[in-house]
Amino acid sequence: MNIPMVNLKSQYQALKQEIDSALIDALSATQFILGPNVQAFEQEAADYLGVKHAVGVASGTDALHLALVAAGIGEGDEVITTPFTFIATAEAISYVGATPVFVDIDANTFNFDLNQVEQAITDKTRAVIPVHLFGQPVDMKALVKLCDDKGLLIVEDCAQSFGAHINNKMTGSFGAFGAFSFFPSKNLGCFGDGGLITTNDEQCANELKVLRNHGSRERYHHNVIGYNSRLDELQAVILRIKLKHIDEYNQNRRRVAHRYSDNLTDTGIQTAFEDNTGLHIYHQYTLLHEKRDDIMKALQDKNIACAVYYPIPLHKQDVYMEAYKHLSLPVSESVAQNCFSLPVYPELEDEKVDAITDIIKEVL
Ligand SMILES: *Cc1c(COP(=O)(O)O)cnc(C)c1O
Repeated sequence: MNIPMVNLKSQYQALKQEIDSALIDALSATQFILGPNVQAFEQEAADYLGVKHAVGVASGTDALHLALVAAGIGEGDEVITTPFTFIATAEAISYVGATPVFVDIDANTFNFDLNQVEQAITDKTRAVIPVHLFGQPVDMKALVKLCDDKGLLIVEDCAQSFGAHINNKMTGSFGAFGAFSFFPSKNLGCFGDGGLITTNDEQCANELKVLRNHGSRERYHHNVIGYNSRLDELQAVILRIKLKHIDEYNQNRRRVAHRYSDNLTDTGIQTAFEDNTGLHIYHQYTLLHEKRDDIMKALQDKNIACAVYYPIPLHKQDVYMEAYKHLSLPVSESVAQNCFSLPVYPELEDEKVDAITDIIKEVL
C-alpha cells in the first residue's frame, strides 16, 4: 500500500480538462501580472468568505507580513501568538521588528489558550495572531471580546482553515485581517505559492494593494516602500476552479477524520479532538500517543506516510531559542513530543482509512 500525506495528483486529475483549458486561455491572454483572474478570484473569495475585500498576495507568509505592515505594527510592539504553529506566523512578527509573545496551548484543541492570552497582555501589546491550527477554529467570539476590551488588533492566521467557520461565519472574517495560504498542500492549494488577505476596511484593502505592488498607487509613482508580492495570474486561474469545490473537499476531509476517530475509540490513543466552537475542516488529523515513534515506524514500514506537525515549538527553535531561553510552555512542549498526523485528503477512501487504523491498533 502506498498512501501519501496529500494526494495532489488525484485532485488535479479530477479537474484536469477544466484547469488545462483555463490555463491555456490565460497563457494566450498574456495578462500575467494582476490580470483578470486575480481580480475575479479576489471577488469570488471575498464573497465566499463573507468579507468586503480580499487582496491576493504571493504567499501566506506575505499575507501575515503585509497585514502587520498595514496595521502599523513595528518596533517596540508585542504580538501575542501560539508557539505551536508553522514558523511563518512568528516570522511575520519578526519581519516588522515587533516581538512575538508565545503563550501555551490547550492540550485538546492545540490552539492557544485564551486565558493565557489574557495574562500575557502588557501595555506594549498591540495585536494578537490566532492560528486556526489544523483547521479547527479558535473561539473567536471570546477572543474578539477580549481584544475589543483591551483595544488589540486581530490578524487571523487562516493558512490551514479555508472554509472553517463558526455558525456560518468564516474564519478570516472576525479579525481586522485574515491571512490565507494557497501553498499546494493546503486544503485550498494552487500549483505554487499564493496567499490572500481579507479585510472589511476599504482603506486597509487599498493600502494592501499598494503594499503588494511596490508601494505604487499610480504606475511609477511610489508613495511608500512596498513589496513585490502579487498573487500570480496563473495561480488565480487554478484557485477559481478549486474554490467551487472547497465545501465538498472539506466535507470529505471530515469524513476521513471521523472515520479515523470512530475506528480508534477506546484504544487508548488521543484521537483528534473536535470542540463545539465551530466547524473543524481537518487540514490535518493529529493525534497523541506516547508510543508515537513506534506507531509511525509501523506505518512507514507499510509505505503509509505520516508526519509530525510540529516537532519543535517556536520558542525552542534555534532562531528563537536564545531570546526565549527562560520561557517554559509545558503543554506545547509535551504535545510536540507525542503528536503525529495521518494522511488526510478528500479522495482518501474509507478502506484505506481502515487499513491505516488496523496497523495502529496492532501496535497498541
Ligand atoms: C503554511 C502556513 C503559513 C505560511 O504560508 P505560505 O503560503 O507557505 O507562506 C503560515 N501559517 C501557517 C499556520 C501555515 O500552515
